[in-house]
Amino acid sequence: ESTTVRYLYDMSEGDASMRTILGGKGANLAEMKRLGIPVPDGFTVSTAACVATMGNQGEWPASLWDDTLEALARLEERTGRTLGGATRPLLLSVRSGAVHSMPGMMDTILNLGIGDETVESLGAESENPRFAWDSYRRFLQMYGDVVEGVPPHVYEDELTSLKKRRGVEQDTDLTTDDLKELVATFKEVSRRELGRDLPSDPREQLRGAIDAVFKSWDTPRARVYRKANAIPDDLGTAVNVMQMVFGNRGETSATGVCFTRNPSTGGKELYGEFLVNAQGEDVVAGIRTPRELSEMEEVLPQAYGELIRTMHELEAHYKDMQDIEFTVEEGTLYLLQTRSGKRTAAAALKVARDMVEEGVLTREEALRRVEPAQLDQLLHPAIDPDHDRTPLTRGLPASPGAAVGAVVFDADTAAERGQTEPVVLVRYETTPDDIHGVIVAKGVLTAHGGMTSHAAVVARGMGRPCVAGAQGIRINTAEKTLTIGARVFGEGDVITLDGTTGDVYGEALELVPPQVNEDFGAIVGWADEIRRLGVRANADTGEDAAKARELGAEGIGLCRTEHMFMAADRLPAVREMILAGSDEERAEALEKILPMQQEDFEGIFSAMKGLPVTVRLLDPPLHEFLPDLVEQSLLVQRLDLTGGDADELSEARTLLSQVKRLHEQNPMLGTRGCRLAMLYPEIPEMQTRAIVRAALAVKEREGETATVEIMIPLVAYARELQVQRQIVEQTVADELEAAGEQMEVHVGTMIELPRAAIVADQIAEHADFFSFGTNDLTQTGIGISRDDAEGGFLSAYVSDEVIPHNPFESIDKDGVGGLVQIGAERGRSAKPGLKLGVCGEHGGDPASIELFDALGLDYVSCSPFRVPIARFAAARSVL
Ligand code: PEP
Ligand code: MG
Repeated sequence: ESTTVRYLYDMSEGDASMRTILGGKGANLAEMKRLGIPVPDGFTVSTAACVATMGNQGEWPASLWDDTLEALARLEERTGRTLGGATRPLLLSVRSGAVHSMPGMMDTILNLGIGDETVESLGAESENPRFAWDSYRRFLQMYGDVVEGVPPHVYEDELTSLKKRRGVEQDTDLTTDDLKELVATFKEVSRRELGRDLPSDPREQLRGAIDAVFKSWDTPRARVYRKANAIPDDLGTAVNVMQMVFGNRGETSATGVCFTRNPSTGGKELYGEFLVNAQGEDVVAGIRTPRELSEMEEVLPQAYGELIRTMHELEAHYKDMQDIEFTVEEGTLYLLQTRSGKRTAAAALKVARDMVEEGVLTREEALRRVEPAQLDQLLHPAIDPDHDRTPLTRGLPASPGAAVGAVVFDADTAAERGQTEPVVLVRYETTPDDIHGVIVAKGVLTAHGGMTSHAAVVARGMGRPCVAGAQGIRINTAEKTLTIGARVFGEGDVITLDGTTGDVYGEALELVPPQVNEDFGAIVGWADEIRRLGVRANADTGEDAAKARELGAEGIGLCRTEHMFMAADRLPAVREMILAGSDEERAEALEKILPMQQEDFEGIFSAMKGLPVTVRLLDPPLHEFLPDLVEQSLLVQRLDLTGGDADELSEARTLLSQVKRLHEQNPMLGTRGCRLAMLYPEIPEMQTRAIVRAALAVKEREGETATVEIMIPLVAYARELQVQRQIVEQTVADELEAAGEQMEVHVGTMIELPRAAIVADQIAEHADFFSFGTNDLTQTGIGISRDDAEGGFLSAYVSDEVIPHNPFESIDKDGVGGLVQIGAERGRSAKPGLKLGVCGEHGGDPASIELFDALGLDYVSCSPFRVPIARFAAARSVL
């Protein structure tokens, strides 16, 4: 096989392995043809042609048009029909098909090749002039919109106005004469909009249609979708040119969409919709509300039987749930597409697990079928079942999960308001152009469209709760009102959606954390058998620790102790300590804090039942314990001006001068972490006492010895760790001696400054373990403030693609990842087998976990709710 890329392939030349060049749709069509499944004949313009065109200012590669005409000639010969022919005309569909499916994001042109002559012969041939004229008006509408850029409402308005004048509701109620009139009107409004006629030469139309599909790769909505789904921008789309089959050829014709399993629940049951006498886009775009697939058995029994057989065949062949588009033309079934079906997280897990049980997939294959993000979705909340509540109305349960948010009526507003508050996007129906709003919204509610409408498919794929086709709602976009029965909601009013049941509520309901089900447990259990990385949790309280254990954490990788100082009942003592005039005063203040800390540690050790717990000693800057400088200045001023209580004033002044003394311009780079402990060794000493006493108390009470690891934060110099280790070890020894007990305590450090990574070999001399603090390592390694970056230039960098993603969410592999690599290598060079972990937010991010696994770290630590995702992602990275 030669490696030269071809621009064009006949359908019979391809197969499923050629998805990069033929796109998903083209490759699967070719595969179906190979399997002997009825597919309309055609050819595919390859992704290479699109890429070449994009790379050449929209200019087609030299040979492409000739290739197209030749492929067309072959297709004409095979079908015995002619494009634009006065007898036996060939009509074409021109459909996009990228490598990764992007449902509804790119363009399609149907019924191409119909014109003033062919419409007559098509009508005569099928003895159904109505169908021919209906196809004609559809073509004008689509071509005008997609290829020529006429605003679609221009045609929709004419269609609506004609239906109104005729007093009919459905498109199907229009007569042949009505449709003829509509064709004339459509030509006229197109001429008015464009200042010229639409082209009537079908070859010119074909060229325009292929070109429009190329261009649709680069529309804003397609870009947004790719970005949201991490699809590269340079893949291009293929274009599938196929003989039309007509689902609108009368009462024995139909079109539909079906899934081989239920994409909401994963249940092995029939799932799909169809419409008699309609074309595909009617179902997909949600223009008419379709009928349930099971009803097709009665209406079109033979085609139905064949469809069911084909569904089974395709699922078995691809070993995955399929999403299928079909058309029945005068009783004969054709498949127009099959692809791996987008599904909810719950469905993904159920299907994966069922297919392992059915012997279709191995466990490893099943794990590969589930995305880490899908597990994440399952950990989303549902409506509190114990709450009394009455829905205002009910629509279709299009995508499960509950959403509470302020009503907004358009995608732009959703995208904007959704940045700062939860919003629910309410639309008559959604179109692919709404994608940027759907991404940001907590949920989507539509008045129109079925379970396979665009809104439903997209929402399910993204894990957004969605209630679709809620017929009981009225939306007035001009006035921004949503009316449900007697209630009227304006923009900003809060509603709740239940995408699992389809219920809509007129108030904010309480949500409860999700219940992780058996499928979830099984899949994550398989992940545990495979993964190499350990998974711990970041937890600061006994409650969090218990949750972490429940979700499978193998220890605590980071117990931040600052909240133990910040709680309201402790702050006065902590201030006393900081502001103490002498060592004695400081010791006194610390004595008050110790028992409170001890109690906290007892809770955590008790919950962890002997599993390792890494306690990090105090980290935050001093000013966080003191009043704000500006506020304190204002207080002094106010007391001064009002001539208030003299004592109060003098006290406020003293505090102000102390605040000033401790004030730092850059507290994040100031007296934090071990720097504080170097100045006040009493603090790490007190904390160590509390830790040891807590461990001993739990041992005495519960018989379980805690595995304690004490971690020193913000170390830059080996000497810092040496000094701190000394303090900790001495204190441990003192406490154990006083208690007459024995216990092993490990001492390690965080690596969260670039200097620490670079001199990790020196630091390792004094460390039993390292834990990479990738939050601070990102802040100091890239030089972006953790606290100020969100929303500012960093958002612009991400949207302008200066950088691929927010480095605080997913690790900057080359830069910060490089520092981790250096730290790990140098640390282990000095101390082979040094235990290495990660406890920054990245410890719960699948892409980062993949890197940490590759770097050979021992464990990641993340927030309790991300533990299952981390367990799963750790398995995925070794698959
Ligand atoms: C870190 O810096 O990555 C870390 C875990 O510590 P903190 O977030 O508490 O600064
Ligand atoms: Mg840190």
